[in-house]
Amino acid sequence: MSFSSEVKEELAKVLPQARHCRLAEISAIMHFAGQIGANGDGSVAIGFSTSGSSLIKKGFTLLEITFNIGKSLKSSDPEFEAFTRAMGDCYDKVSDLVLKSSCCKRAFLRGAFLASGSVSDPGKGYHLEFVCRNDAQADQIVKVCSDFEIPARMTVRRGENIVYVKEGEMIGELLSVMGAQNSYMDFENRRIYKDVSNTVNRRVNCETSNIRKTVTAASRQLDDIRYLEEHGILQTLPDTLREAAYGRLEHPDATLSELGAMMDPPVGKSGINHRLAKLSEIAGKRYN
Ligand SMILES: [Zn+2]
Repeated sequence: MSFSSEVKEELAKVLPQARHCRLAEISAIMHFAGQIGANGDGSVAIGFSTSGSSLIKKGFTLLEITFNIGKSLKSSDPEFEAFTRAMGDCYDKVSDLVLKSSCCKRAFLRGAFLASGSVSDPGKGYHLEFVCRNDAQADQIVKVCSDFEIPARMTVRRGENIVYVKEGEMIGELLSVMGAQNSYMDFENRRIYKDVSNTVNRRVNCETSNIRKTVTAASRQLDDIRYLEEHGILQTLPDTLREAAYGRLEHPDATLSELGAMMDPPVGKSGINHRLAKLSEIAGKRYN
């Protein structure tokens, strides 16, 4: 099962106790995925444009416990009238009156996510989005997210209004706000593990690259010194350079500081570096 389906399955099981929250959640579901169809015989059908079974189940449960709406329904039923009055235009945004309290805003985001949301597997990348019917709905999602200090952005993709969140930490926060506590823990564990292993990998790559540079420089230095020795040039050079050259030949693994300390008298890191650079410079002139 995808992470997105796991989140939805968990959200579908969260049933608010208070009627105001139930109203906010079913409003979001109807506005983001609801369909109301009237038949010629006066009967009406309420449905959801989704293939997700978790949304369908949650939607019908909320309709039943909030509006006492069951399977068979007529347009003349008082329950249906109460329902349509409460919903308003499902192609517009949800009434702000329904979203006054923080508890209801959470329920709204949960319903909207169940109806139109998706989230990437945290192992693959960070992306959570809502597909909205229009920009008024997109605006409303952004606004409600910002009430929880979650920065969401809008874009249009293939004519659809999308609201998305990209930052891992903020996606975790949103999962928690919507009430998907288990998914939130799972997401955070995987996110933190991923961030830590990325940092470790970066550090290892960086160190490997530094080691490689050091090894390359050291082996080139040894080649230069051997060249000078084989061509009888080393013997003609000043004592300080000869001492450095033999020191390096005998101790190819020594660091510059260690090598400097072996000189008589000892020299610092930059002193020995200068001598070795001089040796390479002389060898370089002879090569060419
Ligand atoms: Zn509420």
